[in-house]
Amino acid sequence: NIGDDRPVIRQLDEAAINRIAAGEVVERPASAVKELVENAIDAGATRITVEIADGGKTLIRVTDDGCGIAPGDLPLALSRHATSKIDGSDLLNIHTFGFRGEALPSLGAVGRLSITSRAPGEEAATIRVAGGRMEPVRPAALRAGTVVELRDLFFATPARLKFMRSDRAETQAISDVVKRLAMAEPSVGLTLRDVSGGGEGRLTFRADAETGDLFGALEARLARVMGREFTENALPIDATREGIRLFGYAALPTYSRGAAVAQYLFVNARPVRDRMLTGALRAAYFDFLSRDRHPAAALFLDCDPQLVDVNVHPAKSEVRFRDPGLPRGLIVSALRHALAEAGHRASSTVAT
Ligand code: ADP
Ligand code: MG
Repeated sequence: NIGDDRPVIRQLDEAAINRIAAGEVVERPASAVKELVENAIDAGATRITVEIADGGKTLIRVTDDGCGIAPGDLPLALSRHATSKIDGSDLLNIHTFGFRGEALPSLGAVGRLSITSRAPGEEAATIRVAGGRMEPVRPAALRAGTVVELRDLFFATPARLKFMRSDRAETQAISDVVKRLAMAEPSVGLTLRDVSGGGEGRLTFRADAETGDLFGALEARLARVMGREFTENALPIDATREGIRLFGYAALPTYSRGAAVAQYLFVNARPVRDRMLTGALRAAYFDFLSRDRHPAAALFLDCDPQLVDVNVHPAKSEVRFRDPGLPRGLIVSALRHALAEAGHRASSTVAT
């Protein structure tokens, strides 16, 4: 009977849809930390604390002093495609880290998530969701801000659980994510604590909010994250062309590395991994470094959000420029100019 094995098309339920989306949004504990810290920054937090246990596999807790969420909005925050950051009419005008409304429902589908929050003028409240099952909102005690707690990541998706690396490797990846966001937001204080085994835990990273002008705050923050040796051996870069501003620090050729490990690139404050941009960095140093050496740099590109598409991948770590030649040309020319000037200064000092 042919009718018996005819495929049936069904609408998946919300929990299944969220688990599928989670596959792209949350690859590992570090991706969960990235989404939660980005949410805290988007909420205007000035102090963010991240606590993790067992490489983030059993616990990730992010505490912030941001705008909070009203009790009535808590179920919405856990609903798919619900966001306070865009109204849907203008995907080309994004000024926040988030906009897809996917992170919290995805995390709630693959782990045990609780959000406790208090918005000004509202009562504190908490909501829980585990493996996609949401519980009703309950009153809670919290002075201000938001605490998001994610336990047992991937308990609901055992296949993904198997792909977790060692606690050490996952902690390293989390620390990397926190440091990149710390570089992107010098005015925000960020702390990462490993609380495996309970108690106060071990401080993994701490950067207090930096004050001062753009370059003062940035230099202090970069010194904190990349080390003073980097900032002391780097040239400040600041160049604008056709609506794109490039700023940051690029190391002198003498402070180069054997691998491309200290290259940090940001587009509108978003940490990105981009072949085109790292290619431009390499091209800029072409005449200044031997082939087996790699420059260290922390470079920020700021432009009208309309010039760059951030909606390329659910994890939002890739971007696409409308005209890639523009940022590429700007990086190559600004860095070559700065390096040539520095070289010129260095050789004239030697001569005198
Ligand atoms: P998105 O960040 O793309 O909007 P999320 O699923 O990450 O989607 O978050 C959903 C919504 O929950 C956000 O738009 C925001 O309104 C709210 N939210 C999440 N985290 C926080 C937080 N730490 N503080 C205040 N509001 C938050
Ligand atoms: Mg988000």
